[in-house]
Formats: sequence, structure tokens, C-alpha cells
Amino acid sequence: MTPQATTTIIDGKQVAADTRGRIRGEVSAFRDEHGFAPGLATVLVGDDPASHVYVGHKRRDCAEVGMESIHAELPADVAQDELAARLRELGEDPRVNGIILQLPLPDGLDADALIPLIHPDKDVDGLTPVSAGRLVQGREGMVPCTPAGVMELLRHAGAELRGAEAVVVGRSNLVGKPLAHLLLARHATVTVCHSRTRDLAEVCRRADVLVAAVGVPRLVTGEMVKEGAVVIDVGINRVDGKLVGDVDFDSAAPRAGAITPVPGGVGPMTRAMLLANTLEAARLQAAAR
Ligand code: NAD
Repeated sequence: MTPQATTTIIDGKQVAADTRGRIRGEVSAFRDEHGFAPGLATVLVGDDPASHVYVGHKRRDCAEVGMESIHAELPADVAQDELAARLRELGEDPRVNGIILQLPLPDGLDADALIPLIHPDKDVDGLTPVSAGRLVQGREGMVPCTPAGVMELLRHAGAELRGAEAVVVGRSNLVGKPLAHLLLARHATVTVCHSRTRDLAEVCRRADVLVAAVGVPRLVTGEMVKEGAVVIDVGINRVDGKLVGDVDFDSAAPRAGAITPVPGGVGPMTRAMLLANTLEAARLQAAAR
């Protein structure tokens, strides 16, 4: 089946490009007002090739919008204490408005102990317990980039969230849980599904807004999608050398009112929202000075 003429394919690449364009203008205005550009520090430990590529993208994105990027590279055998000290230093460095500790860390380093050392006001990945607490309580703070990107795509798609049934499949700290709180804050009625949910198809069929963040290729099929629902696919899975999402696009799209593709949906938004978070962090820090 092919998407109906009425199905909107949400173009994450375009929304991300528009977001970067807007941020570039706002960074320039910020620099004019404050005399410095927002700065993002990337901390890269070890030689994982994928991590090197991801950090490279982040630094390139910063350059594209006129932000400073401050880079720290440490060997895989760095001591936990030394890395901890580095994170604290960056927390105090006035040039640094946002800090990214690139994950996963090499064996022998304890990410759960290190992440809380990131200064919460500079936690542009939104991963510290302080950021998670702020989000749950509806306070101002840093929101993880992927859920923030999903919200931006929903806004772009014109999805009505107030009073809507929203179903999030997946309950990770990185995506599912923060997204559920963001949807709650927008007055949706939120259901979170996970690996032990009894009748996933039944719950999904209730959703006006359905988000899949699972990591199982094509788990959500057309018969699980309510007619006209907005479907956001966070999943990135490699199958036979091809990227596929957690939603079976071919069967889901004809039933959906709007749907994101993989690739080209949520992925590009995650990168754009890191820039948005860094700018927001710089604004909050400048206002507090
Ligand atoms: P995770 O493995 O931490 O969490 C997966 C969640 O899915 C868990 O809560 C688990 O309970 C649930 N789950 C597993 N099997 C299930 C099933 N059969 N039915 C219902 N729920 C099930 O994964 P994550 O970090 O949240 O990532 C999820 C997916 O999103 C992955 O494919 C990942 O690659 C992708 N991802 C994409 C981006 C992006 O920028 N687009 C960012 C982060 C993650």
C-alpha cells in the first residue's frame, strides 16, 4: 500500500534545516547583545569510530550556526577521577554554555556516576537527574534532544495535543519517559507502553498521537494505527544494510493522517535540538549573570 493522498509525510530534514536557519539568526542576535557566541563543549573519550563521527557532526553543526565549539578528547584509559575533574572544570568555564559527554563511554568508566557531574544548567543532553526532575515537575530546564525534536515535529504537523490520546511505545530515560512528560505538559492523556504491555496493538489503536521509540524494526504495523493518527517513528534500525524505523511505514502510512519517515524524520531533529538547547542554556545563563 502507498500513503493516501491525504497522508502528510512529515519532512524532518526540512524542519531541521528551518530550525537551524532560525537558530543561526538568533545566535547572531545573541552575539550582538552579549558580545560572545554560545559555546558547546564536547567531551570524547576513547576511539569508538561512531562516537568520533557523531561528535564531528555536532561540532560542524555548531560552526554552521555560528556557535563556539570547545572540544576535549581523552584516551580510553583515562581515570574516572580525571574525567570527573574535566566535567567540573567545563561546568565552571564561562565560555561553555552546554556540555555533551559523548556516550557510550569505554569499559571501566561509570557513566551513571559521571553524568550527574555535568552542571545541570549546561546539561544540553538533558540526561542528568536534575534535568529529569525539572522535567517531571514542569520546571524550566534542559529537555533531551530526541523528545524535544519529536515535540517540534508534532507542532509542525499541527497535531492537537490538548485532550488527545497519546501513546508512547518505549520507556527509556533517553526517549520514552521524557517524551511522556512533555506530552503530559501539553495536556495530552498519555499512555506509556513497554516490553511487558499486554495488548500493544489494542493500546496503540487508541492513539491520536502514536510515538514508537523501541528499537524493534517495523514493530508498529498498519492495523495498530487509528485512522488519521499522527505517527512519529523514533526508531533507527539497520536491516540488511538499510535503515528502517520501529513503524512499518508501508502499512501504517495509508491509515495515518501524518507520519515521519526513517530516515529523514526524527533523526535530523535530534541534532537541531542540541543547538536549540545550547542557545537556550546560553540565554538562561546570561540572564542569571
Ligand atoms: P531502549 O532500548 O533504551 O528502550 C527501548 C524501550 O522499548 C524499552 O523501554 C522497552 O521496554 C521497550 N520495548 C522493547 N521491546 C518492546 C516490545 N516488543 N513492545 C513494546 N515495547 C518494547 O531504546 P531507546 O534509546 O529509547 O531507543 C529506541 C529506538 O530509538 C532505537 O531504535 C534507537 O536507535 C532510536 N533512537 C533514535 C534517535 C534519533 O535521533 N532518531 C535517538 C535515540 C534513539
